[in-house]
Amino acid sequence: METLLRVTDLSRDFGRHSALSGVDLCLERGQVLGLLGPNGAGKTTCLRLLSGLLAPTSGRIEILGLDLTHRPLAAKRHLGYLPERPPLHPELRVDEYLTHCAHLHRLPRRAIPEAIATAKQRCGLEDQGRRLIAKLSRGYRQRLGLAQAILHRPPLLILDEPTEGLDPVQMRELRRLIRDLARDSGIILSSHLLPEVQSVCDRVMILHQGRVRFDAETHAARPTNLWRVRLGGETHVMHLN
Ligand code: ATP
Repeated sequence: METLLRVTDLSRDFGRHSALSGVDLCLERGQVLGLLGPNGAGKTTCLRLLSGLLAPTSGRIEILGLDLTHRPLAAKRHLGYLPERPPLHPELRVDEYLTHCAHLHRLPRRAIPEAIATAKQRCGLEDQGRRLIAKLSRGYRQRLGLAQAILHRPPLLILDEPTEGLDPVQMRELRRLIRDLARDSGIILSSHLLPEVQSVCDRVMILHQGRVRFDAETHAARPTNLWRVRLGGETHVMHLN
Protein backbone atom coordinates (compact mmCIF):
# COMPACT_ATOMS: atom_id res chain seq x y z
CA MET A 1 0.00 0.00 0.00
CA GLU A 2 1.18 3.52 -0.82
CA THR A 3 1.38 5.96 2.10
CA LEU A 4 -0.19 9.23 0.96
CA LEU A 5 -0.08 11.15 4.20
CA ARG A 6 2.11 10.92 7.27
CA VAL A 7 1.53 13.29 10.17
CA THR A 8 3.82 13.42 13.17
CA ASP A 9 3.16 15.13 16.49
CA LEU A 10 1.02 17.86 14.93
CA SER A 11 -0.04 20.76 17.15
CA ARG A 12 -1.65 24.14 16.70
CA ASP A 13 -2.14 26.84 19.31
CA PHE A 14 -4.24 29.98 19.02
CA GLY A 15 -2.65 32.32 21.51
CA ARG A 16 -2.63 30.38 24.75
CA HIS A 17 -5.35 28.00 23.58
CA SER A 18 -4.25 24.63 22.26
CA ALA A 19 -6.68 23.72 19.45
CA LEU A 20 -4.79 20.58 18.42
CA SER A 21 -2.10 18.71 20.23
CA GLY A 22 0.24 15.81 19.42
CA VAL A 23 -1.69 14.26 16.52
CA ASP A 24 -0.06 11.37 14.63
CA LEU A 25 -1.68 9.73 11.64
CA CYS A 26 -1.01 7.82 8.49
CA LEU A 27 -3.25 7.39 5.44
CA GLU A 28 -2.91 5.00 2.55
CA ARG A 29 -4.41 5.04 -0.92
CA GLY A 30 -7.86 3.46 -0.91
CA GLN A 31 -8.44 4.26 2.76
CA VAL A 32 -11.13 6.57 4.20
CA LEU A 33 -10.38 7.98 7.62
CA GLY A 34 -13.13 9.68 9.64
CA LEU A 35 -12.33 12.43 12.12
CA LEU A 36 -15.11 12.45 14.64
CA GLY A 37 -15.65 14.74 17.57
CA PRO A 38 -17.96 17.25 19.22
CA ASN A 39 -18.02 20.98 18.40
CA GLY A 40 -14.67 22.59 19.05
CA ALA A 41 -12.82 19.25 19.17
CA GLY A 42 -10.24 20.42 16.63
CA LYS A 43 -11.48 18.69 13.45
CA THR A 44 -11.49 21.76 11.19
CA THR A 45 -8.18 22.93 12.61
CA CYS A 46 -6.68 19.54 11.83
CA LEU A 47 -8.05 19.51 8.26
CA ARG A 48 -6.92 23.10 7.59
CA LEU A 49 -3.43 22.17 8.77
CA LEU A 50 -3.43 19.10 6.51
CA SER A 51 -4.53 21.18 3.53
CA GLY A 52 -1.80 23.76 4.10
CA LEU A 53 -4.23 26.61 4.85
CA LEU A 54 -2.98 26.94 8.39
CA ALA A 55 0.58 26.63 9.63
CA PRO A 56 1.27 24.22 12.48
CA THR A 57 2.75 25.44 15.75
CA SER A 58 4.82 22.26 15.69
CA GLY A 59 4.89 18.89 14.00
CA ARG A 60 5.36 17.55 10.51
CA ILE A 61 3.02 16.82 7.59
CA GLU A 62 4.26 14.79 4.65
CA ILE A 63 2.20 14.25 1.52
CA LEU A 64 3.69 11.56 -0.72
CA GLY A 65 6.97 12.19 1.07
CA LEU A 66 6.89 15.96 0.45
CA ASP A 67 7.03 18.16 3.54
CA LEU A 68 3.99 20.46 3.43
CA THR A 69 5.73 23.18 5.44
CA HIS A 70 8.92 23.28 3.42
CA ARG A 71 7.62 22.37 -0.03
CA PRO A 72 4.03 23.65 0.12
CA LEU A 73 3.37 24.04 -3.60
CA ALA A 74 4.73 20.62 -4.52
CA ALA A 75 2.83 18.95 -1.67
CA LYS A 76 -0.45 20.82 -2.32
CA ARG A 77 -0.55 19.56 -5.90
CA HIS A 78 -1.35 16.14 -4.44
CA LEU A 79 -4.33 17.19 -2.35
CA GLY A 80 -7.88 18.31 -2.95
CA TYR A 81 -9.79 20.15 -0.24
CA LEU A 82 -13.51 20.59 0.33
CA PRO A 83 -13.97 23.21 3.05
CA GLU A 84 -16.94 23.24 5.42
CA ARG A 85 -18.48 26.04 3.35
CA PRO A 86 -17.02 25.90 -0.14
CA PRO A 87 -16.75 29.38 -1.68
CA LEU A 88 -19.11 28.74 -4.59
CA HIS A 89 -20.11 31.65 -6.79
CA PRO A 90 -23.91 31.58 -7.13
CA GLU A 91 -23.89 33.87 -10.15
CA LEU A 92 -21.75 31.47 -12.21
CA ARG A 93 -22.79 28.39 -14.13
CA VAL A 94 -21.31 25.04 -13.13
CA ASP A 95 -18.89 24.89 -16.08
CA GLU A 96 -17.81 28.51 -15.56
CA TYR A 97 -17.06 27.83 -11.92
CA LEU A 98 -15.09 24.67 -12.68
CA THR A 99 -13.12 26.52 -15.37
CA HIS A 100 -12.29 29.21 -12.80
CA CYS A 101 -11.15 26.50 -10.34
CA ALA A 102 -9.09 24.77 -13.03
CA HIS A 103 -7.16 28.03 -13.53
CA LEU A 104 -6.64 28.31 -9.76
CA HIS A 105 -5.25 24.76 -9.82
CA ARG A 106 -2.98 25.93 -12.67
CA LEU A 107 -4.11 23.20 -15.05
CA PRO A 108 -2.73 23.66 -18.56
CA ARG A 109 -5.35 25.34 -20.74
CA ARG A 110 -5.52 22.38 -23.14
CA ALA A 111 -6.20 19.91 -20.33
CA ILE A 112 -9.11 21.88 -18.81
CA PRO A 113 -12.11 20.62 -20.86
CA GLU A 114 -11.25 16.97 -20.23
CA ALA A 115 -10.49 17.57 -16.53
CA ILE A 116 -13.89 19.25 -16.11
CA ALA A 117 -15.73 16.50 -17.99
CA THR A 118 -14.09 13.80 -15.86
CA ALA A 119 -14.74 15.61 -12.57
CA LYS A 120 -18.40 16.19 -13.50
CA GLN A 121 -18.82 12.58 -14.54
CA ARG A 122 -17.32 11.25 -11.28
CA CYS A 123 -19.53 13.57 -9.23
CA GLY A 124 -22.79 12.94 -11.12
CA LEU A 125 -22.90 16.42 -12.66
CA GLU A 126 -22.69 15.45 -16.33
CA ASP A 127 -25.89 17.26 -17.32
CA GLN A 128 -25.49 20.23 -14.95
CA GLY A 129 -22.80 22.23 -16.77
CA ARG A 130 -25.13 25.03 -17.89
CA ARG A 131 -27.00 25.34 -14.62
CA LEU A 132 -26.60 28.41 -12.46
CA ILE A 133 -25.02 27.55 -9.11
CA ALA A 134 -27.72 29.62 -7.39
CA LYS A 135 -30.28 27.11 -8.69
CA LEU A 136 -28.49 23.99 -7.42
CA SER A 137 -29.81 22.06 -4.44
CA ARG A 138 -27.56 21.72 -1.39
CA GLY A 139 -26.71 18.16 -2.45
CA TYR A 140 -25.63 19.28 -5.91
CA ARG A 141 -23.61 22.13 -4.44
CA GLN A 142 -21.66 19.63 -2.38
CA ARG A 143 -21.09 17.52 -5.49
CA LEU A 144 -19.76 20.64 -7.18
CA GLY A 145 -17.50 21.26 -4.18
CA LEU A 146 -16.19 17.72 -4.61
CA ALA A 147 -15.78 18.20 -8.37
CA GLN A 148 -13.55 21.26 -7.82
CA ALA A 149 -11.52 19.28 -5.26
CA ILE A 150 -10.76 16.46 -7.73
CA LEU A 151 -10.20 18.56 -10.88
CA HIS A 152 -6.41 18.14 -10.73
CA ARG A 153 -6.78 14.41 -9.84
CA PRO A 154 -5.16 14.57 -6.42
CA PRO A 155 -4.55 11.22 -4.69
CA LEU A 156 -5.42 12.76 -1.29
CA LEU A 157 -8.83 14.27 -0.53
CA ILE A 158 -9.65 16.27 2.58
CA LEU A 159 -13.37 16.82 3.17
CA ASP A 160 -14.67 18.97 6.02
CA GLU A 161 -18.13 17.76 7.11
CA PRO A 162 -19.13 16.90 3.54
CA THR A 163 -22.70 15.80 4.34
CA GLU A 164 -23.53 18.57 6.83
CA GLY A 165 -27.00 20.00 6.14
CA LEU A 166 -27.99 17.41 3.52
CA ASP A 167 -31.25 15.51 3.62
CA PRO A 168 -31.07 11.70 4.00
CA VAL A 169 -31.28 10.98 0.26
CA GLN A 170 -28.60 13.55 -0.60
CA MET A 171 -26.47 12.19 2.23
CA ARG A 172 -26.71 8.64 0.93
CA GLU A 173 -25.77 9.74 -2.58
CA LEU A 174 -22.79 11.76 -1.40
CA ARG A 175 -21.53 8.88 0.73
CA ARG A 176 -21.74 6.57 -2.27
CA LEU A 177 -19.79 9.11 -4.28
CA ILE A 178 -17.12 9.40 -1.58
CA ARG A 179 -16.72 5.60 -1.48
CA ASP A 180 -16.38 5.62 -5.25
CA LEU A 181 -13.66 8.31 -5.12
CA ALA A 182 -11.81 6.21 -2.54
CA ARG A 183 -11.18 3.53 -5.17
CA ASP A 184 -8.14 5.51 -6.30
CA SER A 185 -7.55 8.10 -3.53
CA GLY A 186 -7.07 8.33 0.20
CA ILE A 187 -9.74 10.41 1.94
CA ILE A 188 -9.95 12.12 5.31
CA LEU A 189 -13.32 13.50 6.27
CA SER A 190 -14.73 15.05 9.40
CA SER A 191 -18.15 14.45 10.87
CA HIS A 192 -20.27 14.75 13.99
CA LEU A 193 -22.14 11.58 13.13
CA LEU A 194 -20.97 8.13 14.11
CA PRO A 195 -23.33 6.32 11.66
CA GLU A 196 -21.90 8.43 8.87
CA VAL A 197 -18.36 7.51 9.79
CA GLN A 198 -19.37 3.88 10.07
CA SER A 199 -20.95 3.85 6.65
CA VAL A 200 -18.07 5.38 4.69
CA CYS A 201 -14.87 5.11 6.70
CA ASP A 202 -12.41 2.30 7.22
CA ARG A 203 -10.90 3.94 10.25
CA VAL A 204 -12.14 6.41 12.83
CA MET A 205 -10.20 8.85 14.92
CA ILE A 206 -12.02 10.63 17.73
CA LEU A 207 -10.80 14.06 18.70
CA HIS A 208 -11.75 15.71 21.93
CA GLN A 209 -10.30 18.99 23.19
CA GLY A 210 -7.66 18.84 20.48
CA ARG A 211 -6.33 15.40 21.34
CA VAL A 212 -6.85 11.99 19.75
CA ARG A 213 -8.90 9.89 22.16
CA PHE A 214 -9.58 6.90 19.97
CA ASP A 215 -8.03 5.57 16.77
CA ALA A 216 -9.14 2.23 15.39
CA GLU A 217 -10.83 0.35 12.57
CA THR A 218 -14.41 1.58 12.21
CA HIS A 219 -16.01 -1.74 13.13
CA ALA A 220 -14.44 -1.44 16.61
CA ALA A 221 -16.52 1.68 17.32
CA ARG A 222 -19.91 1.25 18.97
CA PRO A 223 -23.16 2.52 17.47
CA THR A 224 -24.13 4.78 20.31
CA ASN A 225 -23.49 8.39 21.13
CA LEU A 226 -22.10 7.42 24.49
CA TRP A 227 -18.72 5.94 23.84
CA ARG A 228 -16.50 4.08 26.21
CA VAL A 229 -12.93 4.76 25.24
CA ARG A 230 -9.95 3.17 26.93
CA LEU A 231 -7.11 5.62 27.45
CA GLY A 232 -3.94 4.73 29.27
CA GLY A 233 -5.61 1.91 31.19
CA GLU A 234 -8.67 4.02 32.17
CA THR A 235 -12.13 3.86 30.65
CA HIS A 236 -13.55 7.25 29.65
CA VAL A 237 -17.14 7.83 28.61
CA MET A 238 -17.43 10.40 25.87
CA HIS A 239 -20.63 12.01 24.75
CA LEU A 240 -20.59 12.89 21.06
CA ASN A 241 -23.29 15.21 19.76
P1 ATP B 1 -17.00 22.14 14.72
O1 ATP B 1 -17.48 20.74 14.70
O2 ATP B 1 -17.88 23.07 15.51
O3 ATP B 1 -16.65 22.66 13.35
P2 ATP B 1 -14.21 21.54 15.22
O4 ATP B 1 -14.01 20.19 15.82
O5 ATP B 1 -14.00 21.64 13.77
O6 ATP B 1 -15.63 22.11 15.61
P3 ATP B 1 -12.26 23.65 15.42
O7 ATP B 1 -13.03 24.59 14.55
O8 ATP B 1 -11.06 23.02 14.85
O9 ATP B 1 -13.23 22.52 16.00
O10 ATP B 1 -11.87 24.44 16.74
C1 ATP B 1 -11.04 23.88 17.76
C2 ATP B 1 -10.76 24.94 18.80
O11 ATP B 1 -9.90 25.93 18.28
C3 ATP B 1 -12.02 25.65 19.28
O12 ATP B 1 -11.87 25.90 20.67
C4 ATP B 1 -12.00 26.94 18.50
O13 ATP B 1 -12.64 27.98 19.20
C5 ATP B 1 -10.50 27.22 18.36
N1 ATP B 1 -10.19 27.94 17.13
C6 ATP B 1 -10.34 27.47 15.88
N2 ATP B 1 -9.92 28.40 14.97
C7 ATP B 1 -9.52 29.46 15.69
C8 ATP B 1 -8.97 30.75 15.35
N3 ATP B 1 -8.77 31.11 14.07
N4 ATP B 1 -8.66 31.59 16.34
C9 ATP B 1 -8.83 31.25 17.65
N5 ATP B 1 -9.34 30.06 18.05
C10 ATP B 1 -9.68 29.18 17.08
